Amino acid sequence: MNGFNEVYKKSFSNLPIFFHNLQRINRNSFTIIKKDMRDRFQFCFVALGCVITTFLTSMIPTIFVGIVPLIGTNITTMYVAVALDGNHEPLIIAFALGSVDCDEAWIWFMRRLKECLGDNIEVGFISHMSHSIDYAIQRVYPDSYQGYCCKNIADKVRASTGSTVVEQLFWKTCKTYSVSEFYVCLNKLTNEVNGNELRWLENIAIAKWARAFFPKVRFNVKYISIPTGLNWLTINTHELPITSIIEVVHQSIRTVYGYRAALGDGMHGHLTPYAQHVLERRMNQSNGYEVTYIGSDKFEVSLNLTIQTFQLERGICTCENCQKCGIPCEHGIASLRRLTFEEIQELVNYKLTSVVYRNAFQAEAVNPIPILLHWEIPVENTVVLPPFAL
Ligand SMILES: [Zn+2]
Repeated sequence: MNGFNEVYKKSFSNLPIFFHNLQRINRNSFTIIKKDMRDRFQFCFVALGCVITTFLTSMIPTIFVGIVPLIGTNITTMYVAVALDGNHEPLIIAFALGSVDCDEAWIWFMRRLKECLGDNIEVGFISHMSHSIDYAIQRVYPDSYQGYCCKNIADKVRASTGSTVVEQLFWKTCKTYSVSEFYVCLNKLTNEVNGNELRWLENIAIAKWARAFFPKVRFNVKYISIPTGLNWLTINTHELPITSIIEVVHQSIRTVYGYRAALGDGMHGHLTPYAQHVLERRMNQSNGYEVTYIGSDKFEVSLNLTIQTFQLERGICTCENCQKCGIPCEHGIASLRRLTFEEIQELVNYKLTSVVYRNAFQAEAVNPIPILLHWEIPVENTVVLPPFAL
């Protein structure tokens, strides 16, 4: 047996000690190892304590779950849960490593994720189209929203029709805010395709991909990309010891934390740059609207033939845009013209403010995992053997 194989095998037996030290230095972290009846490694799961706190207190409650394929004969799949921070940048909130992308693996991953997040939080999930993921979410989170990444569907639309024109029509349909506009676009889309090319799309519930039908928990998120920090793992051509893979992901999360903590220092406005940008765009769009006060706290806001009703006290609009993304819509802004920009900013969801963003990344840092020389050996000795293929 050559030297690498020895190191590779040892990385499995070292995993419990490695996790002990990761948790020792990153408090409230979750690390779990799943073994078969003969103590052979099957899966492991990692979620850092400070990241879970950041997610629960400061991030958009829509979680992307998906996989990152890895090079290797034993550890072939990384399962990831990714969400957006208040500046709409992705962050890995939990990950797992294992050998097979199947129903059982996904159910195990989703159950561990639920243990970290607790039962008292309303979350929605998005993913690429996958029966295994659909099934696992339905089993573990039966009452939660489950949708698809619009980008993944757009890719499939282009592949099934071979047409970028149809893909563009899909995006237009997907991005509409109002139900009536959605059906106009959908009509154009179906008229452009031949025969049964998009029959599969008809079989998917509209709320899974069309913004006009998204529930509040989706926060109008069209898709979430896997953070670029993991790109190295996808192009790496050598099999790595399992502890090295975990170190790469851990280091990538640590780098992101450090970068965003510094970014938070440079945020001088009330809102994150993302929220500020959206609000400014909507302020510009609100200029042409005609506003009529219709009593109580209600305003009727019209442009051409479309009329929406904005309720000031509840901060809701019939276009549903305020409720769905936490930023006042152009109808709300038009109704609030007497307010200053600073006052309108106060109506934005607290998760999109710079103070919450700063606290998310500065309250607690991701600490480096101690090197082997500084490992503390736990009292309890847990046996983990390499997977069966070794
Ligand atoms: Zn509106």
